[in-house]
Amino acid sequence: MGQGLMSAMSKYDVLVVGAGVLGLSTAYHIKRENPERSILVLDKLGGPGQGNSAKSVGAFRNVFSSRTNFLLADSTIDFFTHVQEDLGHDLGLVFHGYLWLLSGRQYRRQEENFKEMSRRGVELRTWEREDLRRMIPDLVTEFEEGDEEAEVMGLEPVERGLQGVKCGSIDADRLVRFYEEEFRRLGGEVRYNVEVKRLILKPERELGLPGEPFVWQDASVKGVETVRGEEIYADRVVVAVGAWANTLLNPIGLDAFMRPKKRQVFVFKDERLERLFHSEGFNKEGVVPLLILPKAGILIKPEVSEGALWIECADNLGRPFKLEDDPQPELTYYTGNLYHVVVKYLPCFRDVQPVNMWAGQYALNSIDKTPYVFEEAGMIYVGAGSGSGLMKCDALGRIAAALYAGEKEATLYGGRAFRVSDLSVKERRVERETFVL
Ligand SMILES: Cc1cc2nc3c(=O)[nH]c(=O)nc-3n(C[C@H](O)[C@H](O)[C@H](O)COP(=O)(O)OP(=O)(O)OC[C@H]3O[C@@H](n4cnc5c(N)ncnc54)[C@H](O)[C@@H]3O)c2cc1C
Repeated sequence: MGQGLMSAMSKYDVLVVGAGVLGLSTAYHIKRENPERSILVLDKLGGPGQGNSAKSVGAFRNVFSSRTNFLLADSTIDFFTHVQEDLGHDLGLVFHGYLWLLSGRQYRRQEENFKEMSRRGVELRTWEREDLRRMIPDLVTEFEEGDEEAEVMGLEPVERGLQGVKCGSIDADRLVRFYEEEFRRLGGEVRYNVEVKRLILKPERELGLPGEPFVWQDASVKGVETVRGEEIYADRVVVAVGAWANTLLNPIGLDAFMRPKKRQVFVFKDERLERLFHSEGFNKEGVVPLLILPKAGILIKPEVSEGALWIECADNLGRPFKLEDDPQPELTYYTGNLYHVVVKYLPCFRDVQPVNMWAGQYALNSIDKTPYVFEEAGMIYVGAGSGSGLMKCDALGRIAAALYAGEKEATLYGGRAFRVSDLSVKERRVERETFVL
């Protein structure tokens, strides 16, 4: 490497690519534990969390079938509460709850899971059909004899509701700004509108020959080259670019173990939905919990700050894995598809049009639906949020910081220990998640 070239380059202790919620949480925790180290965060967009963190519906829950996901989310929710209540940052936290509307068959299939969750300390409330009818008068729990539509669509009657209590919503924008501000306050540096073109792989012992690294050389990621041709080097590079991870990892032969999947959100605010929105008895806000319909993974979230209901669907089959920089919502996806299920269970949505809609992308690990944190070729990868990265962000940041420090165990907020390698590829130890949304 020539002297002239060296002077045009910058060098940091840590370089984090991606200022989404996972990159910022990781940068913050590494900086908090290593205040003397120089850390730079880069993002191709113009501000914090403007990738898929901004597209999220900001919901959180500690109701997961896998112990790993429970720990990641439960401790992160405790951290959110600490930030808002003890540190005085308003994150817009609302504990409205999640309510799974279940047929008898679905309830029985998951009954053992519910018992196991309760043993773990997950607070669950069960509501019988009569309770649901009283508390959500707009909900149809049974279909009329001979209702052909319901039969053709395979819709089952709602027998029970299972409410997760430590569940609710957070303002995603305030959350990413919290991490960014705290990181900067500790002396961290953030640069926006800087797109990384490639990860720079270099041999440990550079010979200065063309074609390096050769197969016989030990090589690792030493930095990045931006689309403007700037080279930025660091002792450790963290890649937290969410759904874009394969664009940086694949060219150097690494795998991000996730694939991008489009998700759409439709916003409803209409007087015909007022009674549903203000369902009483589930939480102190007097709002309907986030409802999960018994069919097709359709969820309806109360957005308390707007008095609106947001509809999203966790569909899979029939829709491609595909990376899109600016995915567009499709109105017909709602009107010609989700709508038919929604109005059968909640006729108050009949003829109500969305007032807003958007689309984003999940970084989906379709094997165990659980994030990855691992080190490979000197690079730390934090990703595969799988649709619930926001609600696990604090735990993932702490685990990545422990990996950076070479520790075997991370201490999650509240003091629980987490084996760092559990989220790796080589020593992965997680259970397949069955409560996916
Ligand atoms: C519709 C929708 C609803 C969701 N709802 C929820 C929810 O309710 N609860 C929940 O917990 N999660 C939810 N999620 C998932 C959640 O949004 C993600 O898990 C989380 O935001 C992932 O954070 P991240 O930092 O990995 O990714 P991102 O926020 O996408 O951050 C990655 C960043 O990397 C940057 N980047 C990419 N490539 C480059 C490059 N080459 N150079 C520089 N920068 C680059 C991007 O600009 C981006 O800012 C939802 C997602 C969607 C799409």
